[in-house]
Amino acid sequence: MNARQAPIFPEWPQYDENERQGLIRALEQGQWWRMGGSEVDSFEREFAAHHGAAYALAVTNGTHALELALQCMGVGPGTEVIVPAFTFISSSQAAQRLGAVAVPVDVDAETYNIDVAEVAKAITPRTKVIMPVHMAGLFADMDALAKLSAESGVAVLQDAAHAHGARWQGKRVGELDTVAAFSFQNGKLMTAGEGGAVLFPDSDMYETAFLRHSCGRPRTDRRYRHQIAGSNLRLNEFSASVLRAQLRRLDAQTEVRDARWALLYRLLREITGVVPQGTDARADRNPHYMAMFRVPGIGEENRNALVDRLVAAGVPAFAGFRAIYRTDAFWELSAPEESPEAIAKRCPNTEAISQNCVWLHHRVLLAGEQEIHTTADIIAEALAAR
Ligand SMILES: *Cc1c(COP(=O)(O)O)cnc(C)c1O
Repeated sequence: MNARQAPIFPEWPQYDENERQGLIRALEQGQWWRMGGSEVDSFEREFAAHHGAAYALAVTNGTHALELALQCMGVGPGTEVIVPAFTFISSSQAAQRLGAVAVPVDVDAETYNIDVAEVAKAITPRTKVIMPVHMAGLFADMDALAKLSAESGVAVLQDAAHAHGARWQGKRVGELDTVAAFSFQNGKLMTAGEGGAVLFPDSDMYETAFLRHSCGRPRTDRRYRHQIAGSNLRLNEFSASVLRAQLRRLDAQTEVRDARWALLYRLLREITGVVPQGTDARADRNPHYMAMFRVPGIGEENRNALVDRLVAAGVPAFAGFRAIYRTDAFWELSAPEESPEAIAKRCPNTEAISQNCVWLHHRVLLAGEQEIHTTADIIAEALAAR
């Protein structure tokens, strides 16, 4: 590759006076946990309102958000949870930690989202929850999932760890009548380093979740009356104060990322051998957690070498997720009866995408248009060089 100036992308995470003031506000409250302060309560109200949900419960991280949501939805030993085979491992680990079997199904080759026809085939009398992941911010087909859910009686839990502020036919995550889980880990679209939240459409499940996330203890209890099994998943006041500031920045950043992705998408399509993640016109607001593309046929080793070349040229690039059933972790706890080979055979798209997909950090999409052109040039050159 010829010498060129490395592109300059904004740093992530970002902060300003709002985070600074939030942290001082939390500090000076003198009470640093949610039961004593008001930052977590305020953040929950603001996050729920932003997503059109009746209730939000802030928790320690996104993995715990999924675990808590699944537990409140009745997932436990003897039940199954259907998850995409191509996702971050938390989707399946959350189910397995509860003693349920995580059943991976294939994703669509264009959108990388769970294939609803495959979900329908995987439903058994033990299936409790279907967990779509809105991959990189692109909504899974919520119409087809709602229909399947109504027909089968199996509930849907949205893993919305990539989908802060996303919309499906004008509807926000909290307006789709299902429970939804978010992550605020360092790389996510809004962050406090760690953190998570669950949205609930009704008060019953929210109240149960509140108890479970606080050792089963009612809000005002002083007599150790733990009413229900739980754990400590409470978010602290400092994190909530930072998240309140982060939420205020989300929409403006989404607009920039969306405009930059439109440009990058067009440029990527012009590069021979590159196929950017597809779109769905019904997913009318995509916050773009990742900029993803495939290089069909490249093979895993060459893909990894490509990622290394992009990183060396200054582009924050990463290999796509490994198929969850191709990790050791997946087989340690509550694994399906099916063999890895049998799962691989019915997940051909996951097999391909997990070997030929590359993703770029969303801070690329917060840069100027010139940087987007430079990024596409670097990708074209890195591919030509192999
Ligand atoms: C990040 C992520 C999670 C887990 O969130 P943590 O806060 O890191 O625990 C869950 N699901 C998906 C799809 C994710 O990307």
